[in-house]
Amino acid sequence: MFEHDALGVAQQVSTGSLPPPPIVQRIVDEAHARYTGLGEGTVADYIPELAEADPAAFGLSVVGADGALHEAGETGIAFSIQSISKAFVFALVCDEIGHAAVHERVGVNNTGLPFNSLIAMELNDGSPMNPMVNAGAIATTALIPAASSDERWERVRQGLSRFAARELTVDEVVYRSETATNHRNRAIGKLLQSYGRLDPDPLETVDVYTRQCALSVTAHDLAVMGATLADGGVNPITGEQVVSSEVCRDTLTVLASCGMYERSGEWLFEIGLPAKSGVSGGVVAISPGKGGIGAYSPLLDAAGNSVRGQRVCAHLSRSLGLNLFASARGGASGSEESHE
Ligand code: GLN
Repeated sequence: MFEHDALGVAQQVSTGSLPPPPIVQRIVDEAHARYTGLGEGTVADYIPELAEADPAAFGLSVVGADGALHEAGETGIAFSIQSISKAFVFALVCDEIGHAAVHERVGVNNTGLPFNSLIAMELNDGSPMNPMVNAGAIATTALIPAASSDERWERVRQGLSRFAARELTVDEVVYRSETATNHRNRAIGKLLQSYGRLDPDPLETVDVYTRQCALSVTAHDLAVMGATLADGGVNPITGEQVVSSEVCRDTLTVLASCGMYERSGEWLFEIGLPAKSGVSGGVVAISPGKGGIGAYSPLLDAAGNSVRGQRVCAHLSRSLGLNLFASARGGASGSEESHE
């Protein structure tokens, strides 16, 4: 393990800023219009209630680290946050118990396997591997310090609400639908217990996890939540420091390697931003120092990532100059030039 905080030098940051607001709005409108007609992908149905989603629904929101808002399409449609909750619960846990403890208990390496894999754990001595797959997310939720499952749930709900700048509530229909069918996640909870990887009761922990996945959000909420991670942990709407800047850095690092499931490498290769998706069709992408992107379209690819969500993020990453790995000769900003 790297002792990166023991180097004895202060952390400096280098990020840049979004183009001026009218340019961002034009590019958000263009990205949304370009993919509105794209009907590729299928709506998730392994949680029965998710199959009821409108395949045409499509919203795109960008919130700057300064709170500037740019939106196109149906950014107010509510959907369950699903796996995107994992990113924010991970941040809350890191803030509570620290980088090293989470690294040791949960891990930060991609499994290369689907999000609900049991084999990944079996092949790795019971390690949940990373906090963005179900095993790691259930293990992470269990690390929220609390005396009871009810208290743990309330801390999760309040923590995610602070990221969203509003009180989030559970979509009870989705929660009941998943609870009636989540046998696999319960098996994951029990397997974690058998490896000594879970201290609280496994089924109660899976229940808290199922509730956190059923929290109801919009594309706008996701952009605000992402902008908070982009802004050193300060929510640009409320001004509240939700988590530390170190925790944001750690969370974005894990998202870069594990946020888009087994497609995380391809996503990074094409888009170059930390991001997280969920099976209900949400995507949040974060441009450190600049802002957050929230997209919603329930048509998914085979890995469970929103098809339109991926395309609009690729469009915005290129047009707004967000790819973390892009540079130009002599340090010139290609994105500025192309906006003239
Ligand atoms: N609640 C879902 C599950 O555990 C979340 C999965 C996802 O969004 N990939 O199966």
